[in-house]
Amino acid sequence: MGDATIPLVDLRHAALKAKVPAVLTPATGLLSDRLGRPLRDLRISVTDRCNFRCSYCMPKEVFDSQYRFLPQSSLLSFEEITRTARVFAAHGVHKIRLTGGEPLLRKHLEVLVEMLSGLRTPDGHPLDLTLTTNASLLTRKAQALKDAGLQRITISLDALDDAIFRRMNDVDFPVADVLAGIEAAARVGLGPIKVNMVVKRGVNDHEIVPMARFFREHFGAAVVLRFIEYMDVGSTNGWAMDHVMPSEEVRQRIQNHFALKALQASAEGETAQRWAYSDGRGEVGFISSVTQAFCRDCNRARLSTEGRLYLCLFASQGYDLRPLLREEQASDEQLAAAIGLIWQNRDDRYSELRGQNAAPSQAGGRKVEMHYIGG
Ligand code: SAM
Ligand code: SF4
Ligand code: SF4
Repeated sequence: MGDATIPLVDLRHAALKAKVPAVLTPATGLLSDRLGRPLRDLRISVTDRCNFRCSYCMPKEVFDSQYRFLPQSSLLSFEEITRTARVFAAHGVHKIRLTGGEPLLRKHLEVLVEMLSGLRTPDGHPLDLTLTTNASLLTRKAQALKDAGLQRITISLDALDDAIFRRMNDVDFPVADVLAGIEAAARVGLGPIKVNMVVKRGVNDHEIVPMARFFREHFGAAVVLRFIEYMDVGSTNGWAMDHVMPSEEVRQRIQNHFALKALQASAEGETAQRWAYSDGRGEVGFISSVTQAFCRDCNRARLSTEGRLYLCLFASQGYDLRPLLREEQASDEQLAAAIGLIWQNRDDRYSELRGQNAAPSQAGGRKVEMHYIGG
């Protein structure tokens, strides 16, 4: 095992305790944090495992055969996830994204989807339920996920060039199988489909225009291609600013070939800047988490595979909810009050501070890894 793995394992043990306050304030759906941000979006990581080894996320040298993934007993069960998600919904969450690791590796995921699809917002609406996947297992699973109540899907694909893609996923996985997954998702009606491309300068930036051309020509408005700035999440991917291609530059490259016009954000706290092709053949999005921080509107919480609540993608520690669910057998009211207290004290805004060269140094010096809390 390389040295770099040891602090990661330590990090996962360094959780903050989730405390039940003495006075139980009920969930009203109107929670807000110290910067006035509501809680609307919950990302749930259902596994820390993945069958890819994307160098920007789970580099092979670190996540090798010696790496100790979480044991099955540490994972939240589907019942525990659903119960926690129900409490989040009572606090105002109306969107849930399942992620990982690779979420489709979690056995019987469609059962969890079905359980979550039964949740309602305080005013009785179903939650917006979606999933982010590398699509390696999607042709097999798309129909079952749709039948279970999944509404939409986001698929990651970093290049159309097979050699580049195989190198980036580092397990020799072919582009054709991801495209087959996208086709399957479209066929069963998991749309509009979003395709995420992480742009790493010098690695796949020459794939920007071919990707844009391919998706507008083959899928039109059925697929929204989004370009993501390579982020300094985690501590294992060797991130450097030189590898980041600002969204502005990505957009210029596309505009050299296709005219674009800016669109309004469609939802509060939306991470992507949306641009439409002027000829009406769909749209593209830009997620500029490095060059244009969107912390001011960040209404996202993340629940790790083992039940830790993270308030920011760049947090170094999460609040452990699992003891409340298991040993302490907290009631729903106690769980809601504990989550409420944590959110009310939130003041995270890492990207914004990074932009001002004032990002906090992380406790223990390490940020949590992307595959562990999901994107
Ligand atoms: N395995 C699934 C997948 O790849 O779609 C879900 C989990 S993955 C962590 C979620 C998203 O995070 C993916 O779209 C991935 O490309 C993105 N991601 C991972 N590491 C990143 C990084 N360093 N910078 C930007 N995006 C990253
Ligand atoms: Fe796996 Fe997704 Fe991370 Fe790639 S980005 S290693 S597919 S979790
Ligand atoms: Fe939200 Fe943290 Fe990202 Fe800012 S850096 S947008 S607070 S997750």
